Amino acid sequence: MQPTEPTELLRTVTFDAQGLVPAIAQDALTGEVRMLAYMNREALEQTVRTGVATFWSRSRAALWIKGETSGHTLVVRELLLDCDGDCVLLRVEPRGPSCHTGAPSCFFRAWRNGSWTDGARPLPEVDALWLTLDARRREEGAAGRSYTRQLLDAGVQRIGEKLREEADELARALEGEPDDRVSSEAADVLFHTLVGLVSRGVSWRAVLAVLAKRRGVSGLTEKASRAVPNA
Ligand SMILES: [Zn+2]
Repeated sequence: MQPTEPTELLRTVTFDAQGLVPAIAQDALTGEVRMLAYMNREALEQTVRTGVATFWSRSRAALWIKGETSGHTLVVRELLLDCDGDCVLLRVEPRGPSCHTGAPSCFFRAWRNGSWTDGARPLPEVDALWLTLDARRREEGAAGRSYTRQLLDAGVQRIGEKLREEADELARALEGEPDDRVSSEAADVLFHTLVGLVSRGVSWRAVLAVLAKRRGVSGLTEKASRAVPNA
């Protein structure tokens, strides 16, 4: 633990009177906020050293490797620091649900119509839409009247036809239609793309993973440099 990097790390992070810093874990692919926990100096150092999110459990007063017993670890892809240095953000690859209740995110309760309702996901629009469409796929029969359900029942060939049609409309909009037409047609293409993915049982997350790989998103600097033989 003597490399200079952890020292620099601890010097730049502001720990509170209890020696803790709040750490927010966010899904690196979707941006979903998964949980909030606290780190002491040792937890932060260990997180950087191992690449696996490690916190300080305030209830047990012990170092806590998230998922050590459940296997639902958070593999840390990137560590970010906020403006005044008193909060860290972990961009992670979650292995399984992050909440001890079994929910993917600890933030599964939403204030709706005067009470807390379970089942929320702090997801961006596209991921939320994929989940909705996938739920459509799984509800057999009864809900058979929705447009999505009709497409799914018609099969991939029909979805493919629609996708070609929508892609053509988007191409025409790009060529010479107003911006609102372009965004609307792009939304149609994306929607039908998602229906196609759902139909094939391919997750939107898998698509995001391909994009992230192409962007060359690396792991924590320390781990990344270790992976490169000549670095
Ligand atoms: Zn939780």
